[in-house]
Amino acid sequence: MSSASILLSSDAVAQQSDALAQLPLTEVLRWAWDTFGAEAAIGTSFQGAGLVMIHHAVEAGIPLPVFTLDTGLLFPETLELKDRLEGFFGITIERVVPELSLEQQAADFGDALWEKRPDTCCQVRKVEPLKARLKTLSVWITGVRQEQSATRTGAGILERYLFDALLERYILKLNPMTAWGREAVWEYLHKHGIPYNPLHDRGYRSIGCLPCTRPSGEDGSERAGRWTGFEKTECGIHTFLPSAR
Ligand code: SF4
Repeated sequence: MSSASILLSSDAVAQQSDALAQLPLTEVLRWAWDTFGAEAAIGTSFQGAGLVMIHHAVEAGIPLPVFTLDTGLLFPETLELKDRLEGFFGITIERVVPELSLEQQAADFGDALWEKRPDTCCQVRKVEPLKARLKTLSVWITGVRQEQSATRTGAGILERYLFDALLERYILKLNPMTAWGREAVWEYLHKHGIPYNPLHDRGYRSIGCLPCTRPSGEDGSERAGRWTGFEKTECGIHTFLPSAR
């Protein structure tokens, strides 16, 4: 992890966040690249906001790395979309994969862990692989939007998190899409002919792993179709790091 993020105090992050809030999306992404280079990367599950960010970066010639968490349980439509996006944008999207194969996971924890202990499944297949990728980064750029769910309403543009308490290492999370509404995202995707997941046209508003995602209709939170039947609305990737504001 570079010293750049370690040197940013919590006050400096707050100030920078206020300054970034005044800038257009392209300039926010340019700041990340100019300041951190390839130690800043866009993480995406190919929901609309991530695609808007990638498009802005590519159009402006900002070569931020892009990665996705491939749990091994994604919809075929999502995997096919990844290929289409790589062709459309002319970029390579890095697959970040869990250490355990699905077979190893079943041997260690039992079959269909997602049905019994989804938090453990998300920890193994999403959080741990993400942690490993974040070890190499100073800035994790996300497509989090405030209106997505109650757990995301407080998201700021630039946030500081404690990555490793023993080593006092921090990581910055850049959420340039916080203020974007769902309609604005979709208007942008359609206007620019950006490929999107066809499941969105079949009632899926938020798309994760196949066993844990259902169509959610238009009522309620955008993430209402995730982990139906459980008190769970987040997989943990946006909640596992302690805030260090
Ligand atoms: S979303 Fe479901 S299948 Fe995917 S990692 Fe989490 S519990 Fe497992």
